[in-house]
Amino acid sequence: MKLHEYQSKDLLAKYGVVVPGGRVTSDPAEAKKIAEELGGKCVVKAQVLMGGRGKAGGVKLFDNAEDAGNFTKELIGKRLVSIQNPAGMIVEKVLVGELVDIAEEYYLSVLLDRAEQKVVVMISKEGGMEIEEVAEHNPEAIVRLHVDPAWGLDDYQVREAVQAAKIPAPAQRQMVAMIKGLVKVYIENDADLIEINPVAWTPDGKLVAADAKVSIDENAMYRHPEYTETKDDGAEDEIEAEAAKLGIAYVRLGGEIGIMGNGAGLVMCSLDEVNRAGGKPANFLDVGGGANAERVKTCVELVMMDPNVKGLLINIFGGITRCDEVAKGILSAFDQMNITIPVVARIEGTAAEEGLAILATSDKVVGASTMQEAADKIVALAHA
Ligand code: GDP
Ligand code: MN
Repeated sequence: MKLHEYQSKDLLAKYGVVVPGGRVTSDPAEAKKIAEELGGKCVVKAQVLMGGRGKAGGVKLFDNAEDAGNFTKELIGKRLVSIQNPAGMIVEKVLVGELVDIAEEYYLSVLLDRAEQKVVVMISKEGGMEIEEVAEHNPEAIVRLHVDPAWGLDDYQVREAVQAAKIPAPAQRQMVAMIKGLVKVYIENDADLIEINPVAWTPDGKLVAADAKVSIDENAMYRHPEYTETKDDGAEDEIEAEAAKLGIAYVRLGGEIGIMGNGAGLVMCSLDEVNRAGGKPANFLDVGGGANAERVKTCVELVMMDPNVKGLLINIFGGITRCDEVAKGILSAFDQMNITIPVVARIEGTAAEEGLAILATSDKVVGASTMQEAADKIVALAHA
């Protein structure tokens, strides 16, 4: 579960990591008041769980409280769209923060290195921009420091890593302290990601976490009741939120081909096939076990909530559930719905021939017996 910036900063502050002052609100008048308390100079930041808020227009610096209040009014209820999140997210809260005077921007993150089976700290002098960009164009600017699960981090290791990352000498001591604090937060709170971008170095020599993203391992959420209240903060994508309520695994991906299948692996393969065939997947959706009419209908309705969907690919492998049952389920679901976009269903497994014969009786659903064939067909139909 991703925490909002304000929640992340509160958590970091408890561990002594230096964060700018400020408060969260959804009320423009309150935002103005917070800005006044901060002396007028402030930064207003949309609290949406997506990257690239700055470029999306969700972060703005102010030198007076009036403008900060007006900007808040503008921002609340607005949908922010970024490259990372083409579907966008509605702003419900803003963080009105103390304005940090930034001389230099660095980067810090803590995450799990699965190959090494260790927590890893990533340190870079190149902060402020997307770390993926740094990784691509200037990979030697990223230093990785692994945390030994039995021994933890020794000071000298952190110091060496900070020096290897060419963090300027005056900032090194505070950088070492920040890294140790972040690792402590990460381990003690079951985090699966912490990212501070930028770590701000001020002209008067202070190191401050100007932005903060903390994500808590979903499997450990039962140990963190403090976050249950904000779990469905509406900050999620609305279709994803609806899917979560229905207990369906759905992820919005931004393309035009809706996809549903039974089993995560099969759905992942379908995404790859659609890409290969020249389409862009609109979503990931795992129908789960069984594919009766009711279930198929619910899933199709979910996929169709996305207005970008121009075609639907259904990929079902019938094991215990026979394909003729699946085919009947699909047809009866479509009989009850008014779907005008092309639909291709690939069904394979037990009683596949009977299933395809049933699909052949319908003019709403095109049958296919292989994934490749299904992907080629749906992309061609959707793009026609
Ligand atoms: P993100 O775009 O979602 O990562 O949001 P950030 O909080 O990182 O803000 C984007 C950019 O706005 C940062 O990289 C900074 O350059 C700038 N920014 C954010 N907060 C401050 C601040 O307090 N002072 C100054 N000078 N710039 C800031
Ligand atoms: Mn940032």
